[in-house]
Amino acid sequence: MEFIDLKTQAAQIKKNVMVKISESIDNAAFILGSNVIELEEILVDYSGTKFAVTCSSGTDALLLCLMAYGVKPGDVILTTPFTFFATAEVISLLGAEPYFVDIDENTFNIDPEKLEQLLNDYNSESIKKLQGKKIRGIIPVDLFGLPADYNRINEIAKKNDLFVIEDAAQSFGAGYMGKKAGSLSPISATSFFPAKPLGCYGDGGAVFTSDENVKELLLSLRVHGQGVDKYENVRIGINGRLDAIQAIVLIEKLKLFSGELDQRNIVAKRYSDKLKDYVKVPFIPEGYTSAWAQYSICSENRDKIMKALSDKKIPSVIYYVNPLHLQKAFKYLNFKEGDYPISEKVSKQIFSLPMHPYLGKDDQEKVINCIIDSLN
Ligand SMILES: *Cc1c(COP(=O)(O)O)cnc(C)c1O
Repeated sequence: MEFIDLKTQAAQIKKNVMVKISESIDNAAFILGSNVIELEEILVDYSGTKFAVTCSSGTDALLLCLMAYGVKPGDVILTTPFTFFATAEVISLLGAEPYFVDIDENTFNIDPEKLEQLLNDYNSESIKKLQGKKIRGIIPVDLFGLPADYNRINEIAKKNDLFVIEDAAQSFGAGYMGKKAGSLSPISATSFFPAKPLGCYGDGGAVFTSDENVKELLLSLRVHGQGVDKYENVRIGINGRLDAIQAIVLIEKLKLFSGELDQRNIVAKRYSDKLKDYVKVPFIPEGYTSAWAQYSICSENRDKIMKALSDKKIPSVIYYVNPLHLQKAFKYLNFKEGDYPISEKVSKQIFSLPMHPYLGKDDQEKVINCIIDSLN
């Protein structure tokens, strides 16, 4: 059994992909170009934003967002400690400082209440760590495919004059109050890493925005801060382009995508119906839909369950063992155990089960029965 099965899907798109890659080789068109433009148009249609700027990875998409807002040393960016490293890494990479806000125990996403609390405390008496620094923005993460609470986050941000960057790396395809992930804040970053809900055959990502000025900035930043052409450089940028092969793969995969989302929802429902009396199953609030990048459950018996699964050769993975404030690379930020109790507690109980659109009912029964048996 596979944790994420990419082979079944590949068999369905391979013929078209190979034909188009072959054409692209004949035309010697490898980076950006017509396939990338076609993909960006499809992404605009899908997301409901005005612009999509594809790029070289989800990490670079986040980096480009921060660069578009001119983030620099001395700035503080608020984010969740319970996410993939890249979310906070890009903040540090620009010399700015990540500051964490704990999560909601039910959604695993940044807790708007705690966010508001922090900003109130900061305004009144100031937290030592933040003294003399300017909080510029917030990066909420749509963890495991479930959007954060953007109505509240955007409102808090507005009140405090902060920007919001949606980290939609795991949530492409998800929904929130009738809107799509990627359109839930003024700028948003997604990833097309192969294991994400919409993945390519290498690295890739995209930034979404409806602000034309921001879009122009992103186009420049993506190609070494180019001006009228790539040999006029008007700002410091990066090499952040997407290549034609990845665009070709994504265009083909997008044809299957909405059917695959339906399948992921069926798989998730089957797990939750059968497991809800044994473990803590994912909570999807009213008005939200998940893209199910991961199906993650919590149990105090995690070790026992994971061992039973592994004995039956059923893969399961812990996302995430270490909250970011306890990661070695962020030692210099001087956080300690106990600073973010919810993230720490969740990290000790959470693990993810096989989840993909092609997970058959029989395989799923095996996973479910193995978990239930292990608890008897
Ligand atoms: C995967 C991921 C990223 C980074 O995306 P890459 O394409 O791997 O660079 C950023 N944030 C989150 C939450 C992710 O899961």
